[in-house]
Amino acid sequence: MSVFVNRSLNLKQIAMIGFDMDYTLVRYDSAAFEALSHGHAARLLVSEYGYPAEVANLQYDPQRALVGLVIDKRNGNLLKLSRYGKVKMATHGLQALEYRELKHIYENVAVELSDPAFMPLDTLFAISTGVLFSQLVDLKDKGLPLPDFAGIAADTAAAVDMVHRNGSIKKVLRADLPRYVIQDPLVPGLLERYKDYGKKLMIITNSDYDYTRDLLDYALNPFWKKHTSWREVFDVVITLADKPRFFERTGRFLKIDADSGLMSNYEGSVATGLYQGGWFKPLQQDLGLDGREILYVGDHIYGDVVSIKKRCDWRTALVLDDLRGELENLKAASGLQADIDRLMERKSQIEATLNRMDLERYEGHRGDRKQLEALFDESDSINAEISEKLQAHRRCFNPYWGEVLRAGQEESRYAGQLDDYACIYMTQVSDLYDYSPKTYFRPRRRLMAHEQDITQCE
Ligand code: IMP
Ligand code: MG
Repeated sequence: MSVFVNRSLNLKQIAMIGFDMDYTLVRYDSAAFEALSHGHAARLLVSEYGYPAEVANLQYDPQRALVGLVIDKRNGNLLKLSRYGKVKMATHGLQALEYRELKHIYENVAVELSDPAFMPLDTLFAISTGVLFSQLVDLKDKGLPLPDFAGIAADTAAAVDMVHRNGSIKKVLRADLPRYVIQDPLVPGLLERYKDYGKKLMIITNSDYDYTRDLLDYALNPFWKKHTSWREVFDVVITLADKPRFFERTGRFLKIDADSGLMSNYEGSVATGLYQGGWFKPLQQDLGLDGREILYVGDHIYGDVVSIKKRCDWRTALVLDDLRGELENLKAASGLQADIDRLMERKSQIEATLNRMDLERYEGHRGDRKQLEALFDESDSINAEISEKLQAHRRCFNPYWGEVLRAGQEESRYAGQLDDYACIYMTQVSDLYDYSPKTYFRPRRRLMAHEQDITQCE
């Protein structure tokens, strides 16, 4: 698939390419992985947090949440925001909020993600949190004795956090890697090609060394042509990096012994080798590179993309697994979209004519009553047709939330972040395989509203 370009990026000028591991170098079957984390977290809520036994039987439904949605802890809602922070869609528990309710709660609200009352789902790892939270709110509304909504949000996040940290889900995953991990033979080929073109390669992952090793052994090692192990290919590997903190605050590096996995304090150069923790400044200093010579590829919109752009001037690439489905759905819906655009255009023309006739009446001219009635009739039938087409359009996408990157007519909050902070984006790392390491990615020239008007008039 294509690589999409927001800002110019000349790969010739990139000396070091850094990769995130989970959902970037290593692809997961998200529905399988998140079902696992949902199930373990739900059971933990029962065993450790005193939640009623029914909670353990909740079934994971991957469609109930999308990457980029935001949990409203106070109101027990899941929100889809426009890029300007306006709430465009919401569910309370498992029910969609009607337009009037939505307006009542959020009319004058522009959601700031720095507000602790909100929790964004910034990565596919957070989908299980969104789904479980909605299901628990639904159970509370049905009368199950559960904490208040903010308490449910905190407990859900803590339970998902715990099952990631305590090794429970990773134990199941490691016992059946083919079920959860999607191998992509093009990725090792791409990495070897970058090496041959003189690029340095790096991993910065929040996973620990043991897990990183097992996952990379499985995902990459069977497919090398010129190497035997990922260890020969990457110049620097940093595990338990604690992103976004890695890009924000100081931290000490520990050196890892690759064979034993043992760690020791370390004060030397980190330009090559295997480490845990640390932070980006000494790394960049030891690499002797300008920020603009480093490209970092990751899937976490905040930890891998936004925080980098805010704190250091590295170039950024976002991997968005959901973009694959979004592109397919957009193709399927393109005929409907063209119909909707045509109808909206006609609707605007009718509105303009009605407004003109109204002005004429205001200025003392007698209106043509028949024309007026005909225009109102046409307007009614167009409105009905638009609403029908919009419903059919929505059925092409996620049944509860619609498109990932749009909130109604506007771009979604996630799309806004992607647009503002990711230089390029793609569905998976191997989308880069079709591009030479000398590619100059250039964005298409964007048209502003007045320029679009002129183009349409031509
Ligand atoms: P990365 O994407 O390679 O930086 O690593 C993601 C790591 O974070 C994986 O090991 C995940 O299991 C872990 N992870 C994802 N979500 C959570 C969480 O909520 N709490 C703790 N760890 C998490
Ligand atoms: Mg990741």
